[in-house]
Amino acid sequence: MSSVWSGPAEHRGEKAPLRTFLALELPSDFIDEMERGLAPLKAAHEDFRWTPRTNLHLTLAFLGTTPVPAVDQLREVLLPLLREVKPMPIAAEGLHLFPPRRPASVLALGLGAGGADISRLATAIEEALLPLAQAVPLPDFRPSHRPFVPHITVARSGRFYIVLSPEERHLRISAQGIVTRCTFFSSVLQRGGPVYTPLWWWDFLGKQ
Ligand code: ATP
Ligand code: MG
Repeated sequence: MSSVWSGPAEHRGEKAPLRTFLALELPSDFIDEMERGLAPLKAAHEDFRWTPRTNLHLTLAFLGTTPVPAVDQLREVLLPLLREVKPMPIAAEGLHLFPPRRPASVLALGLGAGGADISRLATAIEEALLPLAQAVPLPDFRPSHRPFVPHITVARSGRFYIVLSPEERHLRISAQGIVTRCTFFSSVLQRGGPVYTPLWWWDFLGKQ
């Protein structure tokens, strides 16, 4: 019997594929304000796995498995879109539980101001990437079936699902800032939490 499989990519002299995503970085004043607002929730729910400050971000697109040589190609495809984006004012608004209406494993902060622009950007990015997904290939990248909901994951469930009291659910977290950077990250999933590494980034030009 013969097989065409010749072992893992790294044994064939190729670099193993990465796990990648494109995200907006959050300004530090926004994170400071957000962390102050979340403090009572954090104190009440030490069992949640709270996202470490350095991992907070707003995902625009999750590409998943990505061949190393495609990282530069994807940059060339995405830069024309990102060049059109001006620094974006954002404001936090509302807490979300995902999945909605089922036992939740993610607690996220939604956006008011800036949310509509970010959703449009995410849709344009998906439209730019989808035609490439087969050729690159990006085997995990598929058309999304639901409208994009801009959010910042602030906690994940620990041993138990995430449950909030009605008062906690409606806690008003105010945070404002201006987003100026979009970063293409690789993510390595580890027991203690994912490790994100910036592969390239783009700073938005001009005035908001
Ligand atoms: P972990 O999976 O260990 O809980 P994580 O979700 O933060 O950590 P990744 O799974 O690598 O790490 O995801 C990186 C980013 O992409 C996160 O913001 C995550 O919410 C988002 N993401 C991951 N999978 C998807 C998906 N299928 N659809 C949309 N966004 C996703
Ligand atoms: Mg994940």
